Amino acid sequence: MKTVYFDNAATTALDPKVLEAMLPWLQTEYGNASSIHHLGRKAQVAVEDSREKIAHFLGCTSAEIIFTSGGTESDNAVIQGVAETGFRSEFITSNAEHHAVLHPIEHVHSLGFQARFIQVDERGICTPDALKRHISNDTALVSLMHFNNENGAVNPINELAAIAHSNGALFHTDMVQSAGKVPFKVDDFDIDFASISGHKLYGPKGVGVLYARAGVDWKPFMLGGSQERRRRGGTLNVAGIVGLGKAIELADAEMNERTAHIQTLKTHLEKQLSERWGDNIQFNNPIGFDAYHIVNISFLTPNDITIDGEMLLLNLDIEGICCSNGSACTSGAVEPSHVLLAMGVSAKVAKSSLRISLGKNNTVEEIDFLMEKLGKILNRMTHGFFV
Ligand code: PMP
Repeated sequence: MKTVYFDNAATTALDPKVLEAMLPWLQTEYGNASSIHHLGRKAQVAVEDSREKIAHFLGCTSAEIIFTSGGTESDNAVIQGVAETGFRSEFITSNAEHHAVLHPIEHVHSLGFQARFIQVDERGICTPDALKRHISNDTALVSLMHFNNENGAVNPINELAAIAHSNGALFHTDMVQSAGKVPFKVDDFDIDFASISGHKLYGPKGVGVLYARAGVDWKPFMLGGSQERRRRGGTLNVAGIVGLGKAIELADAEMNERTAHIQTLKTHLEKQLSERWGDNIQFNNPIGFDAYHIVNISFLTPNDITIDGEMLLLNLDIEGICCSNGSACTSGAVEPSHVLLAMGVSAKVAKSSLRISLGKNNTVEEIDFLMEKLGKILNRMTHGFFV
């Protein structure tokens, strides 16, 4: 059975060129980048080369790039690292953030800091006005994501960062979903911290970047050796770092082509969905204010018909189609997506959601295949309500 992969917001396939760049560092060039001997020095040169590529992409200096194990660690490092400094007493985020931000903020709250979770609007966006209402002179850090991983909502990062700075607070953005998809220079957005993950941009899993502006105070989160200028202990993941550098370089070089391709697919998919099911579906991605790789829909049914999102995913999987929804399994029960609930979507509608996240390897034929199979599955699941 052919795999049709529409879960690119969860992870992406490693680009063959990235794999090729990584292979020597998994085979013959196995030195520890901290070692003095020639194998170690070679590894260090490769790490620094990758750091420069990423710094070039972000428009920052190499010293501002810290390699981590991924988006989750980068988010934790910022939030817990700023809390450690004791600078002010309050942390602000929104209720539609990824758990890699929400949970560290809940953690610092449990240590005695104030935590404010801004209510996003019905599009899933944290508006500048909402931030203005919450921010105060006690705010240490504002952490708001660039692209939402569930519905693709795009936050106005530069306006939000400007509000944080005018109140003397630091600003962090989780750009895990946007990195490599749009040009992003840290000075244009005026941010202090950013999180990137390798596996969302056709790079390897288990490697990421924390951008930390020079001069901004934060304490290292991962304590250990003196790697990364004493800001992140741990033997460097040389192959992963090389792969991430290559993935960013490719994303930069191929950005226009990838964007145009994925945008065409998204437009095609949205058109098919609307034409076929019109009033019986709801787009949860805020059209016009959303990322170009995520379509998130819910199925609207009369009260006596429910579409169970998990059952839908399993039925699609039987056909070889990989999609997702943002629900989480908590204590054995499946909870609807916290992002959709934050937007004011009802639990019933949120439970019937489907996230189709597109990538550079998808084709129009795959979308047509999805539409055909989805039609049959929905028809079966709703006893003919969906045709
Ligand atoms: N933030 C966002 C917005 C994400 O989509 C993800 C991955 N689902 C993460 C953080 C976590 O990144 P990682 O998997 O690299 O830990």
